[in-house]
Amino acid sequence: MTVDLRSDTVTRPSAAMRSAMAEAEVGDDVYGEDPTVNALESRVAAMLGHDAGLFTPTGSLANLLGVRTLVEPGDEILADSLAHILRAELGGHAVLGGVTTRTWVSPDGTFRAADPLRMMVPDGGDYQVSTAAVAVENTHNFSGGRIADLAELERLRAGTSAAGVFVHLDGARLANAHVATGIGMDTYGRLADSVSLCLSKGLGAPVGSVLVGSHPRIAHARVLRKRYGAGMRQAGILAAAGLWALDNNVARLADDHKRAAELASALAAVRPEIVDPAAVQTNIIVLDLSTLEIDAATFAGQAAERGVLLSVLSPVTARLVTHLDVDDAGAERAAEVLSGLLRK
Ligand SMILES: *Cc1c(COP(=O)(O)O)cnc(C)c1O
Repeated sequence: MTVDLRSDTVTRPSAAMRSAMAEAEVGDDVYGEDPTVNALESRVAAMLGHDAGLFTPTGSLANLLGVRTLVEPGDEILADSLAHILRAELGGHAVLGGVTTRTWVSPDGTFRAADPLRMMVPDGGDYQVSTAAVAVENTHNFSGGRIADLAELERLRAGTSAAGVFVHLDGARLANAHVATGIGMDTYGRLADSVSLCLSKGLGAPVGSVLVGSHPRIAHARVLRKRYGAGMRQAGILAAAGLWALDNNVARLADDHKRAAELASALAAVRPEIVDPAAVQTNIIVLDLSTLEIDAATFAGQAAERGVLLSVLSPVTARLVTHLDVDDAGAERAAEVLSGLLRK
């Protein structure tokens, strides 16, 4: 049996989720007539402390629409240098939204409000680019599933509001932050003007994200979604999977976190320099392989030959992600295989 730790996107819908999809009541969502989509949108909006929601096929699109409602073409959004919106959305914000960006660097992956607050230029006049928004990612994917500290997010909100700058929260894995900290998703959500949440990551739905915000913002995003060609019709079949995931797969994220922590500890016991278990807060482990004799791709290749799949983030870093389809036995097997390779 292969243990696939490349990403929490690899999960497959369970039989129960599939039957919820099969039984979904549907209508034409471009006409606003799909009751299941409408139910999902209002449920996620309330869950994240906002008035309205919009179902999208991907998290990238939810981010693109959210950011585009906050930032006019030519203005900028500030983001962490490892932000998913800048590193893994193929330049969509620039190509399709005309949005420009500047980045700050978080040396150990920890979010500090002072970084964007120091960089903001809310009114650049006719010489400098104006800062329209700041993006935060919670949890932070490429920093190893780091949780942004609530006090720092509050500091960001206070500073940006005073300057008339918006906040976008890429909450692809906000449910992981919520389960790990016990802080409500609405508490996090209210500190941003637009928030995206992925249903297709650890929550286990096959497809879908939801963008939330105020009624006018979401109405604007709805127009943009159709313009980009993503107005879907009987999408309730997909939204039903999201509703099922919210009912059944949120609390269990704690199991993924526990397995990631155990896996990180097992690897650190062999090679303490490759991972600090204390830094593994949710379901993602980033390994620093710079002290190995082999590069990350070779390491991943050797692991794959032994049935454990991981992703290569750079020549010296690899990522392991625990999820719904990896049980205790799978996590233990991964720990055994990877420790064996690291011991060599
Ligand atoms: C996965 C992910 C997204 C969205 O990705 P899609 O593949 O487009 O659904 C957005 N932000 C973060 C942090 C992610 O990990």
